Amino acid sequence: MTPSRWETVPVEGDSAPASAPVRVRFAPSPTGIFHVGGARTALFNWLFARHHGGSMVLRIEDTDAERNQEQWTVGIVDALRWLGLDWDDGPYHQSERSHLYAEAAEKLFADGRAYYCDCSREARDERTRHIPTPGYDGYCRDRGLTPGEGRALRFRTPDEGSTTVIDVIRGAPVFEHHTVEDFVILRSNETPIFILAVVVDDMAMGITHVIRGEEHLPNTVKALLLWGALGGGDPPVFAHVPVLVNQAGKKLSKRRDKVALEQYREQGYLPEAMRNYLALLGWAPPGGREVVSLDEMVAAFRLEDVNSSPAFFDERKLLHFNAEYIRALSATEFVGASGTFLEHGSWAPGDFDFAAFDVLAPLVQERVRTLGEVPAMVEFLFLPEPRIDEKAWDKRVVRGPAAKQILTAAREEFASCAWTAAALHQVTAAVGERHQLGLAKAQFPVRVAVTGRDVGPPLFESLEVLGREPTRERLRRALERLEA
Ligand code: GLU
Repeated sequence: MTPSRWETVPVEGDSAPASAPVRVRFAPSPTGIFHVGGARTALFNWLFARHHGGSMVLRIEDTDAERNQEQWTVGIVDALRWLGLDWDDGPYHQSERSHLYAEAAEKLFADGRAYYCDCSREARDERTRHIPTPGYDGYCRDRGLTPGEGRALRFRTPDEGSTTVIDVIRGAPVFEHHTVEDFVILRSNETPIFILAVVVDDMAMGITHVIRGEEHLPNTVKALLLWGALGGGDPPVFAHVPVLVNQAGKKLSKRRDKVALEQYREQGYLPEAMRNYLALLGWAPPGGREVVSLDEMVAAFRLEDVNSSPAFFDERKLLHFNAEYIRALSATEFVGASGTFLEHGSWAPGDFDFAAFDVLAPLVQERVRTLGEVPAMVEFLFLPEPRIDEKAWDKRVVRGPAAKQILTAAREEFASCAWTAAALHQVTAAVGERHQLGLAKAQFPVRVAVTGRDVGPPLFESLEVLGREPTRERLRRALERLEA
């Protein structure tokens, strides 16, 4: 048997093809929440296309009518937009292209490359029980069955030879044809299996590089066999990107891990931070720097540099990235980005004061890791009374005997001192000194009494914005509470 033509495709240098312009596709199945792994696959496709000045197709693989829902498609499209990953063509919906898959199946049957099979699962299992190689045994190969009810169409896998999958990330695994069963391409209800739909579309759309999750690697030999049988010419180059794992080294799962892109977005992760972090899952920009701009990523991205080993999705590192990206925003950008989060603050609508927020915003910006943390940092300004965090209140520095004296003295001094952060700082330090306490210890009960929390923006700036009377009133109430 003559070797398949793609066995001779060189592995090196194949991520920059000379012949056709690069054309990739992102092909999600809308069967659930959009997963960070899907986002990483989309990003790698996008970076590769942009690096080569090529194009990216968005193809929604919605052939599984039972599991697909419109809301998931909407979620995917929204998430890609949020991440700033635009596409040049599509979205195509496979559900609208079934005629193409049916035509391809007919052609394979007419050419003798596929045959109908009426074996029930039970009959097949009964026959193959004692055979060590799993899969279909070819029982219907030469029975000459025509299409009919209860009959599936199977691909006639060559008995001899092998197919080499050219994978830029994984090398060139060879699959012996005799290990590949005669697989179903059209189910008995006439729906195509997804490998057929993928191949037909990749051919029709002129896809040059298939970049997708490594779980699809085992399907690739079947895809290549179909590609050859359908006369598709040079097949695409493959790149199977590594699986994402959690801290325990287990594949990320919806049930166990925080994997929904939507959830990160809702918690106030910035798309820039997310994009940068996702790019590092299996890839590293040259030079060891990890925080890099999108343009730098586009310039440096090469599929050959993607690693094949599982990539650890480290939520803590992502959080750290996010904090860094938040700090890098301009003050105006930070205020703008915080907007939707402030709408969900715990204060009464109408009690929010933009001017007050603007003053503290740069200080808050330095201290939050997600935008979702912003409202709690400033709510003391907009609530009539601070929400007391009981854990903070219970600390010894608040409950201890010195606290009462500090709060009493501070309240007195705050009645007449200048109402500026600098003056408040000075006065509080002096009060602390009188009680043999450093500034940190002296300001702690004041912070908890006035803001309700033990962390937040710098205290004296916070007090300046809150104002003299509300501050003194809160100190009074805290003293009352300590007495009780
Ligand atoms: N629709 C498949 C998925 O969401 C991807 C298939 C492919 O990229 O070839 O996993």
